[in-house]
Amino acid sequence: MRFCRFNKDRYGVVIGAKVHDVTDVVAEVLAGAKPRRWGDPMIANLAKIRKAVGDASKFKSKPLASVTLLSPVANPSKLIAAPTNYHAHVAEMRARSPNAGPGKGIKESGLFLKANSAMVGPGEGVHIRFLDRLTEHELEFMIVIGKEGSQIPEDKALDYVAGYCLSLDMTVRGSEERSFRKSIDSYAVMGPWMATKDEIKNPNDVPFKLFCNGKLRHNAHTNDLIFNCQKLIALASEFYTLHPGDVIFTGAPAGVGPVKPGDVLTAECAAIGPMEVKCYAYKNPKG
Ligand code: MN
Repeated sequence: MRFCRFNKDRYGVVIGAKVHDVTDVVAEVLAGAKPRRWGDPMIANLAKIRKAVGDASKFKSKPLASVTLLSPVANPSKLIAAPTNYHAHVAEMRARSPNAGPGKGIKESGLFLKANSAMVGPGEGVHIRFLDRLTEHELEFMIVIGKEGSQIPEDKALDYVAGYCLSLDMTVRGSEERSFRKSIDSYAVMGPWMATKDEIKNPNDVPFKLFCNGKLRHNAHTNDLIFNCQKLIALASEFYTLHPGDVIFTGAPAGVGPVKPGDVLTAECAAIGPMEVKCYAYKNPKG
């Protein structure tokens, strides 16, 4: 099933080119659910919600093209991200500064966190700050955690997954800490919806592409991940307790490139769905 959030915090199931509105069912299940300190209640109760929804096609629908897609998870306890997790991306970054020596690989760097306040859905767009600096897109396959876990072994890792989506780890390049440069408001795009894990038998066998204004940038495949999905979940859970709704950006493939206001980023991934994200210049609401 493909679960989305859309418009003003509504929940939907995407079937073909339509969004079936299941907000009332989600609300009903969550009204009877145990409150949690950490984690996203909708993801924590996903199995109950799926059962209560049943055949989603019976709910009233809107054309997908008419809704504003939000991030499929409303309240992750954290946004976890993998740096340098594709050899070809490591090589392209090294080629930019050949005198800098070899960069640290994921084995040495570990993972990093992005601020939750950076999270948006594809319909909200990326609002670029620091127009005098280089801002780039990193389209990444994303894991959504489905249940609480710590010290998760690799061979059990997929038991902890709720589903998968696509993500843009938007990045302003520079010397500051990763978490600082990658946590600007709107620099964590998640979408277009979450495909539940039964839809993707092997997350390490998923091709995906990104086009910027119609020009190919990333042409990627998750079988090129240095640390695959299971390894990333195991590593993250060695350091952090994972909660339902936590997400893992699995790392940028080769093909990162600059973005500017007016650009349109289009992701293609048959296993999940297409995603379109527009780029704008950030406008300070205080003027
Ligand atoms: Mn990244």
